[in-house]
Amino acid sequence: MPVFYSSKEFTHFINTQKQKGQTIGFVPTMGALHEGHGSLITVSLQENDLTVVSIFVNPTQFNNASDLEKYPRPFKQDVAYLEHIDAAIVIFAPQPEDLYSGKVVSKAYKFGGLEHEMEGKHRPGHFDGVGTVLNLFFRIVKPTKAYFGQKDFQQLQIVRKLVQIEKLPVTIVGCPIHRAASGLAMSSRNKRLTPLQTQEAALLFKALRYAKEAFKTQSIAHINKEIERIFKENPHLELEYFEIAKSDTLKTAIRKRKQNSYRGFLAVFAGPVRLIDNIALN
Ligand code: AMP
Repeated sequence: MPVFYSSKEFTHFINTQKQKGQTIGFVPTMGALHEGHGSLITVSLQENDLTVVSIFVNPTQFNNASDLEKYPRPFKQDVAYLEHIDAAIVIFAPQPEDLYSGKVVSKAYKFGGLEHEMEGKHRPGHFDGVGTVLNLFFRIVKPTKAYFGQKDFQQLQIVRKLVQIEKLPVTIVGCPIHRAASGLAMSSRNKRLTPLQTQEAALLFKALRYAKEAFKTQSIAHINKEIERIFKENPHLELEYFEIAKSDTLKTAIRKRKQNSYRGFLAVFAGPVRLIDNIALN
């Protein structure tokens, strides 16, 4: 299967494909691939002539050095996983110095306020790193369509904004959250959980399902309090935030309005491992 480590060689390859009129589907990942990534790749394979999967642990989007250091990097396994899906998938796995042309730093972006909410508050600089690396990737890969999971819903909204800001000719496709049987959203970080933490982490989706049900009849303040209580009772998990926010602006909601669409978002620590999840409420 084609694996490119250098952006120069990859550029040469992709330009040839574009000249042939091939449509390119792009799935950016940080590796440690799982069925969540697989679900995005499957859609891309159906909708495009060629699918490119990048594997790149982006240093500029980590606000925590230990999280970056401990991020799993099972590269050989990832290649085998992709080969098993479809041997025609093209892998692009550059080194940071190469991708960033020697200067591994973020650009400062303004995403219309989206960057100040939730993950933006708790992970300073994170979305500048995400925006910077995706802008670089989009310019090299030149995809027709790019696929992102709703698992990182705030990121998905920010990527849509990035494409407007940078005037990139790509269609962004949002894909549903892929979950384990317990309801736990699949994530590369799940690999760092102990068996007990994995079991307990099913509470994230349980809490979100409760929020969705309660949203029909209860006030936002009541739901917020209940979710806090649910997590306080669990000694294995620590709630960093739960918020009900408007789906488009991601601004925290205090009162429900019929015409608006809302989602519930949470971030939870299981020991040192930080997990996020979200759900559509109406
Ligand atoms: P990551 O490798 O964690 O940066 O994720 C790469 C892409 O896969 C992002 O667009 C994520 O939102 C998406 N993704 C990760 N986990 C899931 C999941 N459980 N379901 C759907 N998409 C996911």
